[in-house]
Amino acid sequence: MNNNRPLKNPLFLIVITVLLLVIVILADSLGYIGKLQSAFIEDKQNTVRFLDVGQADCTLVENNGRFFLIDAGNNVDDGFKVEKKLRFYGVDTIEGVVLSHLHSDHIGGLLTVLENFSVKNIYLSDVCDREDPLYLEIISATDRKETKVVYLKKNDKIVMGTATFTVLWTPQSANENNASLVLGAECDELTFFFGGDISSTEERKMLDNNVISRFNILKASHHGSKNSGCDEFLDAVSPQYCVCFCGKDNDYSFPNEEFVNRIKKRGIVMYTTAENGDIVFNTKDKTVSLEKTKAAHQ
Ligand SMILES: [Zn+2]
Repeated sequence: MNNNRPLKNPLFLIVITVLLLVIVILADSLGYIGKLQSAFIEDKQNTVRFLDVGQADCTLVENNGRFFLIDAGNNVDDGFKVEKKLRFYGVDTIEGVVLSHLHSDHIGGLLTVLENFSVKNIYLSDVCDREDPLYLEIISATDRKETKVVYLKKNDKIVMGTATFTVLWTPQSANENNASLVLGAECDELTFFFGGDISSTEERKMLDNNVISRFNILKASHHGSKNSGCDEFLDAVSPQYCVCFCGKDNDYSFPNEEFVNRIKKRGIVMYTTAENGDIVFNTKDKTVSLEKTKAAHQ
């Protein structure tokens, strides 16, 4: 019987172990191990979900297990919908919530969110109306919860992993819709435009001030109303997709037919939360999926 086979030779095993150690140390010093680890983490989850929460806006951005919200849905029954959706998607702590403007279909669900989740930061336009009853309600709720309130101005940036949110425009207007904070989001390979409920009056002002560039996905401003998404604005943004938040059979007939025609004329693919449920973009693969079954969890 041969007792001297290479794998059982102690010297051979020592040499192999030392060689492996040298390779690991070299790879680590050259940064390969770190790169492998971060590639694994970055591939985990990069998703932007437009949540079907009735006649209201609520977008959930997930970046490597961290969560961010743009608007927080409506109150009463819809606030409950927001809570259920966030739980369904595994939300516990929310890094930040940007509130576009002080209307209940965008911030009404915030109180429910604050009650049920840990929210680190609330972001508002620095020119928001600080006497508005909804604003005062938010401030007193955040005081009780130790949530930081941060006021944003044009060009401010919020970074969460590979997602960057940039404030494009903070208009001041007696019309609250037109006072919406406008946000651009860059998430991995995709860019998103969030204009709250602005109308074409503000879109034209932004065009005049050269703050509009191309975005892959347009969140339809003001739920796809007739007075939003004018031709020159749509041409400048030139999105591949348009997502519209609206409730089924809503009282306003959103999205408006004229708006839809302007979208269709340009070959932009349009989804609505009423028809498609949750609309989910994977920002690494640049894919979109429609989570109609998940919408049934309301
Ligand atoms: Zn709205």
